[in-house]
This record gives sequence, structure tokens and C-alpha cells, in this order.
Amino acid sequence: MPANAQLLPQAADAAVAAWRAVRARVAVAALAAGRDPSTVTLLAVSKTFDATAVWPVVQAGQAALGENYVQEGVDKIQALQALGAPVQWHCIGPIQSNKAKLVAQHFDWVQSVDRLKIAQRLSQLRPQAMAPLQVCVQVNLDASPTKAGVVPSEATALAEQVAALPGLRLRGLMCIPDPQPTPEARRAGFARAAALFAQWQQRGWPVDTLSMGMSDDLEDAIACGATMVRVGSAIFGRRAVPEPGLR
Ligand SMILES: *Cc1c(COP(=O)(O)O)cnc(C)c1O
Repeated sequence: MPANAQLLPQAADAAVAAWRAVRARVAVAALAAGRDPSTVTLLAVSKTFDATAVWPVVQAGQAALGENYVQEGVDKIQALQALGAPVQWHCIGPIQSNKAKLVAQHFDWVQSVDRLKIAQRLSQLRPQAMAPLQVCVQVNLDASPTKAGVVPSEATALAEQVAALPGLRLRGLMCIPDPQPTPEARRAGFARAAALFAQWQQRGWPVDTLSMGMSDDLEDAIACGATMVRVGSAIFGRRAVPEPGLR
């Protein structure tokens, strides 16, 4: 237990209560879409929150955590491993080449693969003793010049190259659509991602992960077939740190 954990019982209770509420939202959305709630995985996005804040949610049963910033993520992985917490760690932020080694050595998943060069480096640098890195190709659905991700027209070719790398295992597609004012517009974006994902499955690729939906739009994403939603602020609260490049 981190030394200062007992100073924060209310914050810890609040995070666990919020986590339970998000789990309920996920289940309700799945049922509303005629889906089994167990087909949607909740990834808790813990970026900017330290191990002390994250620990109660892990203890309550949250199994998978997402991190955007590599060094911050590695520090947290080591802190929680020291506490014996069995967490699956997902890197969901942009990866610079010089951070690829840290990612390959510490994370279980990378959802933000958007170019071949980084995929090759991750594959090369993945330690032999570890399972292959589980990978999603991040697709820039709206082809926004300022956003991460491969444009849809190049996504399938990249996914095919990623699938051939020995240190990686292609699991599916991740996207962060531009914010939209209406549920209809949100669902139209998610539906385009789902159609691309379905094409990959129709090719016979063993992909099972359609990672889309965040705190504000997880219901729409689940209605469109998301198998994983990535939720941060609805669990841990508002982040104090600005986020260049997310939206
Ligand atoms: C921060 C982040 C999230 C979570 O966003 P919230 O709106 O806080 O739920 C999900 N996915 C990615 C890639 C992120 O960077």
C-alpha cells in the first residue's frame, strides 16, 4: 500500500464508486444494443493519476489500465507491480521512436500503432521471454491532419504488415473520432470504424478488438460494436494536465 494512501480515503472511495457506475453504463449500453455485457472490456485510462489514485480501482477488480505517456506509464507499472497488482497495461498514446524500447519492455498492449516504422521497432525490441505485444492499429477516421492514426485508406495495408511481424500480434483497430454534437453523428463515425474492422474479420484475420468510445460517448460506441471502451475522466475525475494532441 502506498504510504500516503490512507490520506485519501474519500478520493479512493469516489474513484471506486465512479468505476462501478461506469461498469453499469457499459452493461446497460451493451444490453440496450442486444449484446452480452461480457463482450465489452473496460479499459481504465489512468494517465496523469498516480499509482496511489489508481490502486483502489485495481483492488476493486479493474484488470486493464491504459496509459498515454510512456515514462509515466512505466513508473506506474513498476509501482503497481511492486504492490503485486496483476494488471494488463495498454499503451494508448503516441510513441516516439526513442520510447519504443520502454514500451516493448513494459507494456502488454499497444493500441496506438500508426506507422510501420514504429511497429517494426516494437517487434524488434520485444523481449523474447515475453508474449508478443498485443497491438491495435490506430485509425484516424476523420483524416484530421493534427491527429494521430493512419488514414482509413491506408489502414488495411498497415494492419497486414503489422500482422506479419513476429514480436507483435494484431488484435484489431483503435480510433478516437472527432467530437460530434449529436448521437447520430457520433454513431456515423463509429459505424465507419466498425465497417473497416468487419472487413478485416472478413479477410479471415483473427482480430477481436474494436477499441472505441470514451467517457462521453461509450454508449454510442457500444451500440456500434465496440469490444473495448477506454474510460478515464468518468472514473478518476477531471485531469489537471492539458493534453496536447488528444482532441
Ligand atoms: C485520455 C484518453 C482516453 C480517455 O478519455 P476520457 O474522455 O477521459 O474518458 C481514451 N483514449 C485515449 C487514446 C486517450 O488518450
